[in-house]
Amino acid sequence: MHRDIERVLISQQQIARRVAELAALITADHTPPKQEGPIELTIVPVLTGAMIFCADLIRQIPMAMQIGMMTVSSYPGRSVSTQGAQVVAQQLADLRGRHVLLLDDILDSGQTIRLVTSVLRERGAASVRTCVLLRKDRPAARDVPVDYVGFDIPDVFVVGYGLDFDNYYRNLPDIVTLNGRVTEGRA
Ligand code: 5GP
Ligand code: MG
Repeated sequence: MHRDIERVLISQQQIARRVAELAALITADHTPPKQEGPIELTIVPVLTGAMIFCADLIRQIPMAMQIGMMTVSSYPGRSVSTQGAQVVAQQLADLRGRHVLLLDDILDSGQTIRLVTSVLRERGAASVRTCVLLRKDRPAARDVPVDYVGFDIPDVFVVGYGLDFDNYYRNLPDIVTLNGRVTEGRA
């Protein structure tokens, strides 16, 4: 697996530092004034890619929260560019009146965030905020407003820390690019 790595773009230490900063920001933004009582928070990771990010982030947010899940597929199998975002499963429970924080691994064309945000609003969420660990440097990504961004990265295909190629490499602790010979000839 490690022979397939071209270079480390973001190390596990950098990720850990940034995840802690994001958790602190999110906690501060979701803590209402004392007299108002706690807000009803639901965290929705977009699976499968945001699974590891979500696990690390939420353990640093010391608030009552529920977890919902949505599985969206846009890079099926051995694709290295979006084939169109599709909701393939959801486990959201009742979102009516709840404040939802949507988590995704990476913002690329923006289709996933747009699609999932509209589903969450249709389900009656009181508010929907969005947090992505990575945002690619391309106009389509910058056109989609998101509330929290971990890192801005170049417009390259990355894996690791939850992100896959053909459902592999999700368990790499760093965010890396792959050798061309691995992804060669893939759309
Ligand atoms: P979007 O819908 O914004 O085009 O893409 C978001 C989804 O595509 C992400 O949730 C992720 O699953 C996948 N994706 C986008 N860029 C990359 C990438 O560089 N590497 C991997 N592994 N997945 C990506
Ligand atoms: Mg994804």
